[in-house]
Amino acid sequence: MNNITNTGEETRLRPTSDLEDMLKGAVQTMVGDVFDINTLESNLTELFMILRKKVTEEIFHQIDVEHMECKECGNKMKNKGKKHRKIKGLVDYDIHVRVFYCDKCERYERPLDKIIGNTGRITLEVKEAMVLLGQRIPFEEASSYMEKLLKVGISHESIQELLEGIGEKISKEEEELIADEIDANGYVKDWKDGKPINDIAYMELDGSMVQTREDDWKEVRVGVIFAEKDRLEVDKNHNELYRKKYFSVFNDDKNSLAEFKNRATLEAYNFGFHNYVKHVIVGDGAPWIWDYASTYHPGAIQVLDYYHASEYLCNAINAVQLKDEGQSKQLKDWLWEGKIEEIIKSLEKVPKCKEIEDCLRYYRKNSSRMKYGEYRKEGVDIGSGVIESAHRVVVQVRMKQSGMHWNKKNVQPIVSLRALYLSGRWSNIVTHLKDAA
Ligand SMILES: [Zn+2]
Repeated sequence: MNNITNTGEETRLRPTSDLEDMLKGAVQTMVGDVFDINTLESNLTELFMILRKKVTEEIFHQIDVEHMECKECGNKMKNKGKKHRKIKGLVDYDIHVRVFYCDKCERYERPLDKIIGNTGRITLEVKEAMVLLGQRIPFEEASSYMEKLLKVGISHESIQELLEGIGEKISKEEEELIADEIDANGYVKDWKDGKPINDIAYMELDGSMVQTREDDWKEVRVGVIFAEKDRLEVDKNHNELYRKKYFSVFNDDKNSLAEFKNRATLEAYNFGFHNYVKHVIVGDGAPWIWDYASTYHPGAIQVLDYYHASEYLCNAINAVQLKDEGQSKQLKDWLWEGKIEEIIKSLEKVPKCKEIEDCLRYYRKNSSRMKYGEYRKEGVDIGSGVIESAHRVVVQVRMKQSGMHWNKKNVQPIVSLRALYLSGRWSNIVTHLKDAA
């Protein structure tokens, strides 16, 4: 491969036949070498790298003219020197943009600007890759993936800076939207009823903790809205949603809960949540969820997530080590059927301990949201876990890896970006990337 590299590096490619010769030379070299398909592919990668650079250089060279006539008056324009531009892309562009000036018309021309346009320091192609990786994996890893997969060297600091900048714009935009659409009492300003939809819509609300540098663990609230008909069964234990809307608000100050509620209200309205003949709010025991649900979605069916309920019961059963297996099975069956009063009566008879007390308190408080038998009969999902919980996909997989600490100011930008990505709004992200430096 060395001869190709040398040919490429030392002389500028002129006519297209040079490119053809270069390709023929490359093929001859590779045929001549003894290698397997893996060597072939690594040689190809190297060849693509060289081609990428040569072809772009050639294009720039052809567009770059030494003399220019004014488009307005036809006079020869003055050469005012060159402006240096460095752009990071699939190729490291190191460009000297010639600047021409017409005295008569007082106008400038920069021929190479035709290609560069208003591209900032990094091309869109590379920025998209940075965001795609950085929203999912640690910045250091994203940087090494860029190098490995795209052969583009970009620092983890640059990736972080881009992600935080874009995320901040997105979260600002979200805040502005809420200010425009939601009134001071948390209701949609310009509410219009839609046509009834004969299906079930769900809003799942949840929270997750993130470790911050300043205040140790802080909560991020997460929600997701989807409809039953958008569910795609991958296998018995795993469903995918092909339409869903995630949203997330960092619980940073005393206004954060109101912000999250406003956000949930707006997302629900935009989704048409209330138009669904059955609309369901699923959550754990957090009082703010049910307070919010009762106030802003009085027509919604409230469902306490089955797995949270089940966890309390299992802890209680394990704590007292019920000898009678029949009894613990009975308790679990009652839960599945939503016979919460039976469970409470039964647990009141066993010796008291912390786990029993916790379970009793939780069940007494939430029994109206635990009619699991009834829900299942109506086809309402009881939070069975076939859909991965929102807080896990939005927050945990990215923000909660071992040893990860986040500056508080960076939490909201990253979760906003991630929620948008997971909601399938890539084009929205790209729009922001086009404007970014
Ligand atoms: Zn002119």
